[in-house]
Amino acid sequence: MRPIDPNRVYDVVIVGAGPAGLATAVYAGSEGLSVLMLDRRAFGGQAGASARIENYLGFPTGITGMALMARAYNQAQKFGVEMAIPDEVIGLDVPTRSDKDCFFLTVSNNERVGARSVVIASGARYRRLPIAGIESFEGTSVHYWASPLEAKLCAGQEVALVGAGNSAGQAAVYLASQVSKVWLLIRARDLAATMSRYLVDRITGLPNVEILTQTAVTDLEGRDGVLEAVRWRRHAREEDVRRPIQHLFLFIGADPNTDWLSGSGVALDSRGFVLTGADAAANRRPLETSRRDVFAIGDVRSGSIKRVAAAVGEGAQVVAAVHTALAR
Ligand SMILES: Cc1cc2nc3c(=O)[nH]c(=O)nc-3n(C[C@H](O)[C@H](O)[C@H](O)COP(=O)(O)OP(=O)(O)OC[C@H]3O[C@@H](n4cnc5c(N)ncnc54)[C@H](O)[C@@H]3O)c2cc1C
Repeated sequence: MRPIDPNRVYDVVIVGAGPAGLATAVYAGSEGLSVLMLDRRAFGGQAGASARIENYLGFPTGITGMALMARAYNQAQKFGVEMAIPDEVIGLDVPTRSDKDCFFLTVSNNERVGARSVVIASGARYRRLPIAGIESFEGTSVHYWASPLEAKLCAGQEVALVGAGNSAGQAAVYLASQVSKVWLLIRARDLAATMSRYLVDRITGLPNVEILTQTAVTDLEGRDGVLEAVRWRRHAREEDVRRPIQHLFLFIGADPNTDWLSGSGVALDSRGFVLTGADAAANRRPLETSRRDVFAIGDVRSGSIKRVAAAVGEGAQVVAAVHTALAR
């Protein structure tokens, strides 16, 4: 990888090479902007780690996340986008009077990147349960998504699902049509406070979904990455349960990758996601943050729809806003 030129100021620097960042790169590159995209791990983001994406428009038989993202990566390169991967951005400097038209991003190896505009596309991480060794079951038995691929793996079996929000409710309804039984485990006393009424009604009407309130997973048993049993505690009854279950679904929220924004003046919501538009400050454009000419898109954005297509759409949309920013 080439070192970053400290004297160059890019039209746009994109932090994160998931679907949102890659879409920005493709549209910005194809429209003649000078672009640098950085990612701390690899291109593709969460989508790249998805075994199969079944709901992305235009791929009726599905496509592996990595194949989809690799096409986008090649497309961005074709349009002359520069990439710095792996390179972690650790800070976004508030411009001083002397460099008021230029942002500086600090990269973990102490390199600095100059930018006229910045697109934050650093995504989010799905929350894990605090259970030792849970990562050894990920990819085979512990799932953070419920698509036809996961449903096929557990067709006709009993599954456990943890979560009380709408994404958990949607997954429970879908899985119930594919598996013999869904154990829906929630910490609260009922679902009504966190899940939309229509989903609560649908779930309670499904004969093969059993809702266990005030319940928490306490342990996972298995070998060689294959789950054999899930243990949970029903706190209200002081009862410990062990069930032979091979698939556990977790829908307990996501944490944004926004630590690197501390001290930057970019406003975040109470959960750490980046505020944009009118929620961020007065007179802001739709994907603009509280800092002028700094934009946020995809899963890192407060209120985002956590889907590949939504991230890609915002990547296309933000480039129009970047043009407006550069023209000022
Ligand atoms: C298992 C799984 C399956 C999924 N399946 C589907 C599906 O079938 N259909 C669907 O529509 N959606 C699916 N999703 C959701 C979808 O993947 C996400 O909504 C989408 O990837 C969000 O894109 P993004 O670019 O906003 O963020 P991300 O994909 O999270 O990418 C963010 C990138 O930013 C990088 N980054 C973070 N911090 C920094 C930093 N400080 N410096 C540099 N780089 C940084 C990360 O390394 C990452 O590559 C799935 C998600 C998961 C986890």
